[in-house]
Amino acid sequence: MQHNALAEKDRAVFNVIAREEKRQKEELELIASENYVSLSVLEALGTVLTNKYSEGTVGHRYYGGNQIVDEIETLAVARLKKIFGAEHVNVQPLSGSPANAAVYMAFLKPGDKILGLKLDHGGHLSHGHPVNFSGMLYNFVQYEVDSKTGRIDMAAVRKLAKKEKPKMIVAGYSAYSREIDWKEFKKIADEVGAYTFADIAHTAGLIAAKLLDNPVPYFDVVTTTTHKTLRGPRGAVIMCQKKFAKLIDRAVFPGMQGGPHNHVTAAKAVAFGEVLSKDFKIYAKQIIKNSKVLAQEFLKKGYEIVSGGTDNHLFVLNLQNKNIGGHDAEVILEKVGISVSRSTIPDDPKSPMNPSGVRIGTPAATTRGMKEKEMKQIVSWIDEALQNRDSDKILAQIKKEVKKMCLEFPIPTK
Ligand SMILES: *Cc1c(COP(=O)(O)O)cnc(C)c1O
Repeated sequence: MQHNALAEKDRAVFNVIAREEKRQKEELELIASENYVSLSVLEALGTVLTNKYSEGTVGHRYYGGNQIVDEIETLAVARLKKIFGAEHVNVQPLSGSPANAAVYMAFLKPGDKILGLKLDHGGHLSHGHPVNFSGMLYNFVQYEVDSKTGRIDMAAVRKLAKKEKPKMIVAGYSAYSREIDWKEFKKIADEVGAYTFADIAHTAGLIAAKLLDNPVPYFDVVTTTTHKTLRGPRGAVIMCQKKFAKLIDRAVFPGMQGGPHNHVTAAKAVAFGEVLSKDFKIYAKQIIKNSKVLAQEFLKKGYEIVSGGTDNHLFVLNLQNKNIGGHDAEVILEKVGISVSRSTIPDDPKSPMNPSGVRIGTPAATTRGMKEKEMKQIVSWIDEALQNRDSDKILAQIKKEVKKMCLEFPIPTK
């Protein structure tokens, strides 16, 4: 990246950014929620659009001088509608959690009952965890995955919904490696008169490429982050049926947020343009191929995977039979230049600080062009590192090899 002004004027900040750029180039990213954006997305982010206030919606702003900004937002909206077939979209949400807050605010009152998946079963904080605004403001009842199969048991969801009669049902998760039966969720919601809310923060890119089922045609409202498999800037969007358009737009502004981040809106438009390209479909297919190979290689080496495998870009390794906690595994792998995130397993007997699993995902490595061969190599390194965690010499050797491979697969240069 060129940051000539920054390099001259503020060495302290410049140097930190340069070191982080080097880290990203030399290390292997297996955190399922991360990715590398294109240079076009980065360039859009670093523009004068950040200078402008544009509270309101296209054509209805609370400040003057927004005619050009309106064009950017209109472009982002049109592209997103095309990707998911949405009737109405709002591209202003600052990130996934505020987008979800706006959805609850649009449809519900504080204290209303919502069904969401439990965090340690793969859900997200903003789906009703007690330490999060969602759990504080709304009356969440949590469903779970089946303890034997590791999959969501739709019969159990139906039973819970009939007993609890929630106003809303949330589906879409952070650490769930299987297909989601949107249609069945919609049927259950209709049976009890609940709104349907899909949070596809993790899988949006795979849905966009039509490799996983799309909830947008069936659900009342859908949110997604734009920085995970969609490979755009940090941010989020909300999609809904036309009849809810006003409710959603008002909840985003003035309900939840002030001015939109126009430089991010421009970067979202760029990313959506990339998602609409033929290359993106090839990329998304490879993400899933890589994830399946990674999972199979772990199974071959005697590792356990929650639900036994994966249909998408991620899975959770259950490390209970390997005598190591998720946090400790995360720290050892960090020593060899591999980033993973600790994760709970369903009904985890250990604490969230050092839970029994790690979550592994392939979107970032796939962006670098890594394929099946590299996935096999990665599993060998991870297994070797965990088995030889007390040998600084072996860990140092693995780190060298990881770096060598990473430099052969550069982060995006276009
Ligand atoms: C990542 C994620 C979010 C939150 O996104 P932030 O941008 O980190 O606020 C919300 N829901 C799900 C399911 C997620 O995986």
